[in-house]
Amino acid sequence: MHEKTLTELADGLAAGEFSSRELIESLLSRIERLDGELNSFITVTGDQALAAATEADALRARGEAGPLAGLPIALKDIFCTRGVRTSCGSKMLDNFIAPYDATVVEKLSQAGLISLGKTNMDEFAMGSSNESSFYGPVKNPWDLNAVPGGSSGGSAAAVAAGLAPAALGTDTGGSIRQPAAFCGITGLKPTYGRVSRYGIIAYASSLDQAGPMAYTAEDCALLMNVIAGHDARDSTSVPRPVPDYRAELNAPLEGLKIGLPKEYFGDGLDSGVENAVREAIKVYESLGATIHEVSLPHTHLAIPAYYVIAPAEASSNLSRFDGVRFGHRCENPSDLIDLYKRSRAEGFGDEVKRRILMGTHTLSEGFFDAYYKKAQQVRRLIRQDFLDAFENVDVLMGPAAPTAAFDLGAQKDPVSMYLQDIYTIAINLAGIPGISAPVGLVDGRPTDGRPTDGRPTDGRPTGLQILGPHFSEARLLNVAHQYQQATTWHRQRPAFAKETR
Ligand code: GLN
Repeated sequence: MHEKTLTELADGLAAGEFSSRELIESLLSRIERLDGELNSFITVTGDQALAAATEADALRARGEAGPLAGLPIALKDIFCTRGVRTSCGSKMLDNFIAPYDATVVEKLSQAGLISLGKTNMDEFAMGSSNESSFYGPVKNPWDLNAVPGGSSGGSAAAVAAGLAPAALGTDTGGSIRQPAAFCGITGLKPTYGRVSRYGIIAYASSLDQAGPMAYTAEDCALLMNVIAGHDARDSTSVPRPVPDYRAELNAPLEGLKIGLPKEYFGDGLDSGVENAVREAIKVYESLGATIHEVSLPHTHLAIPAYYVIAPAEASSNLSRFDGVRFGHRCENPSDLIDLYKRSRAEGFGDEVKRRILMGTHTLSEGFFDAYYKKAQQVRRLIRQDFLDAFENVDVLMGPAAPTAAFDLGAQKDPVSMYLQDIYTIAINLAGIPGISAPVGLVDGRPTDGRPTDGRPTDGRPTGLQILGPHFSEARLLNVAHQYQQATTWHRQRPAFAKETR
């Protein structure tokens, strides 16, 4: 049952092949048996899930269940969930029980989906490897020596390991697409404003966006139908009708114009990843698409601009965690300043502190124009690069990350970790949507010749990233789905996910 896609599970429930209760029980038992090794969940809400499953089965028996009622999902621990701890991967919020549901959580439960629990993540979504979590790193089910990617690493690992058929993640600079690529699943970052941010703990508000992670593009479409749409409680959410994301999945790709940004195939791209991506592009050619080289000339400025803008917004967003209103509070403060200082010093981890320092610095008097304003100007140029490219092509394609999953502990220097996001970050700066879909298994060794200590490193997944203009999610899902109709990479599961485990 745990190897089935969400769509197949929905069909199985509708046909009465199994009940929601049986499905949820089997996944909870897998989580109990296997997640000790992976660490993909921070909190498992088993009792609530079982109660909801019983209710969904009763609704179905009365003929009142919607098509998605009784299906399981996992939620990154950044989504507020009423009555359930929402930690954001931080000691700061280890004791925080959210008093309300995020809009997307509310929408999922209205559609009848059942949360299995809250997944592990980099602290406050800052990271590319899930190693900055207060709850410890997550392991990649394809190779337990490897990271699952980040920051939505718990969501990606849980799906890849067959602990949940789908999950929600968030993506500020790649945090859905890169872990999806590292774990061999499909993940969509929607257009900024397409999905409500209400009730999602803010990292960088002008970049954050929630989206689905699942085995297939079809499953992502199913979830987008539930979570997309305007929300009066999020002022940046866009009042624009929501299409049926499944309606266009089968549209033929004949005549599709694919642009390959030359900047996405340069130095630093692992040859195994490049080969897998180029093989996938050949499949698109065989489906009738044409290939065009394009240029995104400001690509090299994306990481510097992001690491000014994101920390600036984060330093402001994270100022609310002060030990007074909620979250971690130090013991026996001598005065108010001591309370602030020690609560924050104890509650935040190193990466979060680093970002707060960077952000506070770039926003401070005398530096604002030199850093923050300049980064915003660069951001505009990056966005324009994409708009210019989409004058000539329908979608852009390239790798989701420069390498396959790297080893746990391998990226010691923060800047080399930041460089991991070279192909994903510009997309958030531009606000456009992007999807990553699995296109092969490659040698996990990085290109720098680092010794692998004799460990097996073959067979780590890699992802193709597909980008489109603002609000082109239906098209991206269609383009990914057509590839998945022609190939079987999305069907590959790691040994860890096999039934016998
Ligand atoms: N890796 C990037 C960062 O550390 C992006 C994270 C994300 O998308 N949340 O900020």
